[in-house]
Amino acid sequence: LTGTNRVPLQTEANGPVLKVENLVKTYRSGSKMFGTLRVVPAVREVSFELASGRTLGVVGESGSGKSSLGRLLTKLMVSDSGRILFEDRDIATLSEAEFRPMRQRIQMIFQDPFASLNPRATIGRILTVGPVAHGMDPARARDEARAMLDLVGLDAGAIGRFPHEFSGGQRQRIGIARALMFKPRLLVADEAVSALDVSIQAQILQLLDRIQRETGVSMVFITHDLRVASQICDDIAVMQYGRIVELGPPSQIFLDPQSAYTRELVAAIP
Ligand code: ADP
Ligand code: MG
Repeated sequence: LTGTNRVPLQTEANGPVLKVENLVKTYRSGSKMFGTLRVVPAVREVSFELASGRTLGVVGESGSGKSSLGRLLTKLMVSDSGRILFEDRDIATLSEAEFRPMRQRIQMIFQDPFASLNPRATIGRILTVGPVAHGMDPARARDEARAMLDLVGLDAGAIGRFPHEFSGGQRQRIGIARALMFKPRLLVADEAVSALDVSIQAQILQLLDRIQRETGVSMVFITHDLRVASQICDDIAVMQYGRIVELGPPSQIFLDPQSAYTRELVAAIP
């Protein structure tokens, strides 16, 4: 368990980069009148703090609300109630226009960064289109793209190539480079290594760990795989039915779990 050996990079004095209080999201679909109303409480009174430069794992089985929480933190979706304090502002209640300048500093990494992207766009374009749209000089964006590719361990030649020319692991490296183009303070990774072979998973986890040390970025690392979370996270939040039922360092989760559900999860690891 490498997670148990991680040394805190920052002191308490740096304070939390993210503070979440009583966050709630319930999905409603169908119609009450026709008896088809479906009410799904996905995130229920979730609270936690993330210190600067640390990684919080969010672990739980399918349907426990992990992705919903991720979408709330990145404001891809609006919460019903609760607070999300980031850079001293409650982003949960900011309007889209008010949030726009901050959006760049909260970046998301998905399972396959290219699932929803134009397969005819070069990597250079994929990396620079967002930053240029946000006002970065195109020549500078190209330089920055080369630097980020180097940081994630790809050669600069990648810039003129297309997504289909890369393996899953390489595509995830590009996805990480794209997120880093914005110099984010917070990365939210949702099942970022779940689609990869175990050996490639380890490489990407190592990469994320190194990037965190080098850039000081804070991370919320969502995964259904407790074993994966333990390799990279300073703390792990265990979710069940939309609630955090336990939050602590990997050493606690594995050696001294406080909730019955965490004990079940640990026992289920082969
Ligand atoms: P996880 O990522 O842990 O698998 P999700 O956040 O995707 O969990 O889902 C939490 C719950 O919310 C599940 O019961 C899921 O079926 C439901 N859900 C997720 N997205 C939607 C949606 N867009 N509309 C309605 N229900 C949803
Ligand atoms: Mg999910």
